[in-house]
Amino acid sequence: MNAIIGMSELLLDTPLSAQQADYLQTVLSSSMSLMGIINDVLDFSKIEAGRLELEAYPIDLREWLGDSVKTLAIRAHSKSLELACHVDPAVPKSVRGDGMRLRQVAINLLGNAIKFTDEGEVLLDVTVEESYEDRLLLHFRVRDTGVGIPKEHQARIFDAFEQADMSTTRKFGGTGLGLAISSRLVKMMGGRMWVESEPGHGSTFHFLAEFGVCETSEKAPARRMTAVLDGLRVLIVDDNETNRDILAEMCKNWGLNPVSAADAAEALQKIRNLDPCKDPFELAIIDAGMPDIDGFSLVESIHGETDFAGPVIMMLSSPDRQEELARCQEVGVRTYLIKPIKQSDLMDAIVTVLDLSIVREVAQVAQPPEQTRSLNILLAEDSLANQKLAIGLLSRWGHQVTVANNGREAINRLSEKNFDVILMDIQMPELDGISATAEIRELQADGKVPLCPIIAMTAHAMKGDRERCIEAGMDDYVSKPIRPPELSKALTRAVEHYPQRDENEPTSEPPAAPASAATAPQELFNWTNFLETVLNDPRLAKDVVNGYLAETPQLMTQLEQSTRQRNSELATRMAHTLKGSLRTFDSPLESSAKTLEAAAKDGDWETVASVLPEFSNQMEQLESQLRDKLQQLANPRG
Ligand code: ADP
Repeated sequence: MNAIIGMSELLLDTPLSAQQADYLQTVLSSSMSLMGIINDVLDFSKIEAGRLELEAYPIDLREWLGDSVKTLAIRAHSKSLELACHVDPAVPKSVRGDGMRLRQVAINLLGNAIKFTDEGEVLLDVTVEESYEDRLLLHFRVRDTGVGIPKEHQARIFDAFEQADMSTTRKFGGTGLGLAISSRLVKMMGGRMWVESEPGHGSTFHFLAEFGVCETSEKAPARRMTAVLDGLRVLIVDDNETNRDILAEMCKNWGLNPVSAADAAEALQKIRNLDPCKDPFELAIIDAGMPDIDGFSLVESIHGETDFAGPVIMMLSSPDRQEELARCQEVGVRTYLIKPIKQSDLMDAIVTVLDLSIVREVAQVAQPPEQTRSLNILLAEDSLANQKLAIGLLSRWGHQVTVANNGREAINRLSEKNFDVILMDIQMPELDGISATAEIRELQADGKVPLCPIIAMTAHAMKGDRERCIEAGMDDYVSKPIRPPELSKALTRAVEHYPQRDENEPTSEPPAAPASAATAPQELFNWTNFLETVLNDPRLAKDVVNGYLAETPQLMTQLEQSTRQRNSELATRMAHTLKGSLRTFDSPLESSAKTLEAAAKDGDWETVASVLPEFSNQMEQLESQLRDKLQQLANPRG
């Protein structure tokens, strides 16, 4: 599955005809659903065998559930269903529990609710059932307005391979395992699951689950923000009552003063008839998709017919963002949210739209780390398909990969060259990953090969594997199928937490070419992506590089001249052309060119002056790197 899904994703990223892309999408989605079934069967047998253990770690429930609900947004929207998530303000910000398993249960119930509902809404609601000193019993409800379940089937659906109406299997698909797994997981979480339903009137699936209380856990509203937002009047416009209530509650949690309207007419009326003793509205949050008059037309009316001139946040629900984004621009709305809306998304939007930059700084601390520098990676992996997948991903991120087909080969490679990271499969012929790691750690302890982090890469997904790998001396662990974000994060962690490799550290063999390669400056172009752009045609590649080398010096000279002469138009054009050529090489310098273009256009010469010198410098480096590359192409052994 790893190879099929991964290679399909990689292939989808290459130039394809529309029909090929369509076929490939089918391969991908079928593989995903097959994977779903395999995972269900594995999970179920693990639970039945008493081999599944739950983990406990702190989770931010609102984020966690909000993200889970978001994954189902497209499915819900394609059926025109309203999908929302409400976490009661009494539920603490973080709790300790098995977030992944909780997500699995929530997605199963929400997925079913969407599957069996043709119109109306699906809501996930969380409240506190009971709280003890160090534990908390939470009550989750997944409510839908769908077909419902007859009384006589309600108990049976929690059994394995059971569906309420076996005859609908073809229409709705499924294995009948979802609820069996979910109800058992919930039981392991110290709770239980049941359903209330009436045919034709929808269903509510309930479950209770126990969580640990986190020491530092604060109540939901971020207190430091309330001072800034206190009493601010907000108009909320949405035709869906559940959504209105959820938004109003979130706003109240932060001390804002929300007023709700169910349609455009009511909104206009509320803006016009505002009580003179009250402050005017300072912000409007408007649903784009409302019947009769939609959100965009409402904004136009507000601007044309009322005094309200405050910022607007638009709530979009369409997966076809292009069209809605274009409409946003047309009516002058710059900030928008995609439904279902997480509390943190709403806060970010409010902060942006009101330009509360102090608050924004606080929010920025949580940004993910930057992508790591270019790394020399040793990949120990016996499966050809997995090798290709890993190489495809890693080289796309600008890393150099050396392949070893088993543990023995990996050890041999280590004596030939220095590596920043080793990615180690566990099950390999000749010498497996665990034994190879043990040998490598010994060699490193004796100073025979330099220290470097080892990341396990394994299809084992049982609890305890992680511990086994760490015990064997590995630093980290990614499970297969390899998911690009996980792998990328593991690489970042590995190099961050490891002492930088000393370039001069002796290896058992005299360091030859690789050492100098390691100290070479970072490549300012991405050859792999560039080759893709030129359809892997070496002749075309050479032509393009030659063209670039012939043209660029002149463009640079003109950019520098026009900057000195403060000629905004010419400087903008030159920066724009350079940006285009840099994009062909997928060069990191593209972003500087973009900055230069924007600054030149605005006549912001100060920014131009601060960016240009370093840019010129790097452009020269890029030129010389490309010349080297051409030489290598002409003389591949050199
Ligand atoms: P699957 O969905 O794979 O068939 P589940 O165990 O998740 O398996 O669900 C078992 C059965 O319960 C479904 O086939 C369906 O008949 C019924 N069911 C579950 N959720 C709902 C719902 N929200 N509305 C109506 N029927 C439902």
